[in-house]
Amino acid sequence: MNQNHDASDEFHHDHDAAASAQVRRENMAGVLEVTTLATLQDLLHLSPDSLLVVNQDGTIVGVNEQMLSLFGYPQAEVIGQSLESLLPTRYRATHVTHRATYTAAPRLRPMGVGLNLFGRRKDGSEFPVDISLRPVLVKETVHVIGAIRDMTIQRLLEQERLQQAERLRVQADLINLSRDAIFVRDPISRILSWNQGAQELYGWTMQEALGRISHTLLQTRFLQSQKAIEDQLEREGRWEGELSHTCRDGRIVVVESRQVLIRDPQGTITAILEINRDITERKHVEQAQLQIHATTLAQRAFLQHILDLLPSSISVVHGKDARLLLANHASTLIWGAAWPLEQPMQAFLASHHIAIVDQQGLPFSPETWATTRALLHGETVIQHQEVIRQPTGKTLPILVNAVPLTSDSWQSVEAPEWQDDQAQKWEPLALVLHQDVSALKEAEYLKDEFIGIAAHELRTPLAILKASASSMMVQTARGHGPQLADWQQEMLQDIEQATDRLTDLTEDLLDVTRLQAGQMVLQRAPTNVISLVQRVVKRFCQSASRHHVELRTERSIIEISIDPRRIEQVLTNLLTNAIKYSPQGGPVIVQIEVQERPQTVEIRVQDTGMGIPQHQQAQIFGRFMRAENAKAAGISGTGLGLYLCRSLVEQHGGRLWFESEEGKGSTFFLTLPLITPSH
Ligand code: ADP
Repeated sequence: MNQNHDASDEFHHDHDAAASAQVRRENMAGVLEVTTLATLQDLLHLSPDSLLVVNQDGTIVGVNEQMLSLFGYPQAEVIGQSLESLLPTRYRATHVTHRATYTAAPRLRPMGVGLNLFGRRKDGSEFPVDISLRPVLVKETVHVIGAIRDMTIQRLLEQERLQQAERLRVQADLINLSRDAIFVRDPISRILSWNQGAQELYGWTMQEALGRISHTLLQTRFLQSQKAIEDQLEREGRWEGELSHTCRDGRIVVVESRQVLIRDPQGTITAILEINRDITERKHVEQAQLQIHATTLAQRAFLQHILDLLPSSISVVHGKDARLLLANHASTLIWGAAWPLEQPMQAFLASHHIAIVDQQGLPFSPETWATTRALLHGETVIQHQEVIRQPTGKTLPILVNAVPLTSDSWQSVEAPEWQDDQAQKWEPLALVLHQDVSALKEAEYLKDEFIGIAAHELRTPLAILKASASSMMVQTARGHGPQLADWQQEMLQDIEQATDRLTDLTEDLLDVTRLQAGQMVLQRAPTNVISLVQRVVKRFCQSASRHHVELRTERSIIEISIDPRRIEQVLTNLLTNAIKYSPQGGPVIVQIEVQERPQTVEIRVQDTGMGIPQHQQAQIFGRFMRAENAKAAGISGTGLGLYLCRSLVEQHGGRLWFESEEGKGSTFFLTLPLITPSH
């Protein structure tokens, strides 16, 4: 404190004493020398900077106004304080050492070059400062003048400048990193800047490109006129569109170009920023896709044309509701109305009052339509007889073939956007062919009529023949007339068996003609189908010697409304075949089960016989159709049985199908509805 007072007194005294400054430059180092502190104090006031004077001990002995207001101290509180009191506490200790070094060899220099210096105000707040030091001799003693400048604003500006520089650097990096070709050209299209992307796309380095006229260098080809582009640029400040450029290696690229006009504050155009993205590949792909699309359309049109020329109706339907995907001209003729694409089949039929009926004119329930069976059960339905009643009431007998297709075969030809969401959900698909068999029916009708008459006419003579043979055998057995020789007896037995077979054949033929003419009428009655099957099986058990016929069922009564004679006829036929076509013998298993969906009785007849060759399976239900292995084995037959069976079963609202493997055996499946259809 003492020292402080001394310094202050000295200061005032010197101030009073020295009216005129005695300043002189001395010694070679250019150290300022004054005789009194007061002189120095006067000088301090002249400076716009904050100045202070410290003596060798680091005590503040002089300050100017600027310094006081900068640090927020009244003069009395500063004079006599150590210089370190003006520093943040954390710097004080080191500063004492620095100061000592400096005082030992004082010279004019800025302080703490490269350091961030801070001052500390009276209120404790800190601020960045810049300090210059200058030694001064006051009465022969070394003092130091410190010029302190508040650097707060400069530092802020500096920081901002650095940030801005960093931002610009990042932007420049980004521009360079961009895959797009980015360049700036002046109003006469001289290239002013050229990024890495431009070099990669076009092949010229920045050095090679700078100063060149961009349109000449790149041989720009404009899809619209250059003038129109420039007009738009000038009017709207930007333009976007496609251009084509030639690269250094002669390659032509198509670019998606964005151009932005840059103006100076006066509105004069100074440059154009051009960002070009290479879309050559995309263009090629687009072009190829367009081409493929056009080709596909042309092929489809061609296919449609061919389909339209075909006399049979062809349609492709998809989904469980049989929506139309494709149909030919003949299809419209078959239905008597045009079926709109994507309309479900039932909706189409209902909207035009079209009905699908059987040969008796009774409506087929939709589940039994060939189309529905192919779609719902994946069944290949061949030659299904249906009758279409057109909107005009005209009826058309048709044969329907419905083949399930894999959806892939359709979807792969569809447009990709269609495929994406559709590919996931699998949809049944079927090809349906309708063949108008009116003419055939007419011919068949005549043939059937002939067969009918012939069969009918055969009945009486056959009955007489059988009766005569039987009667001769019975009468001779009773001793009437001469005794017959053994060979005569055998002949009579042969005659009897042959007439039986002929009678069966004529009955079958008559059934066929009845069915064809729609004259087969079922005599339905509530029947326990279990006992019916038991009865038939029992008969076969007794007669079959080399076969083991077995019935498997867990029920004793299943009562349904059927024509028992006809169903017995069907079962007899299936069992006869099972035995007949297993000449080596073996098990024949009959199984009865109730199926829930749809509610049906399913009767299976399974054998381990010769089976049906794969390639003939589709036709085996046709009339007079016999498999070649059966014929080759010399097994006799007419090929009428399965046709009759299927027709009779279907007339009951049921279904008959089979699974068979040649050499391994066959299983025939017969279903009958538990509840009689209402029609
Ligand atoms: P048929 O037996 O009088 O020839 P069907 O209409 O009953 O006539 O049978 C048609 C053809 O189907 C037979 O000729 C035979 O080739 C074949 N078939 C029928 N059932 C069987 C079976 N269980 N095993 C092997 N082939 C069979």
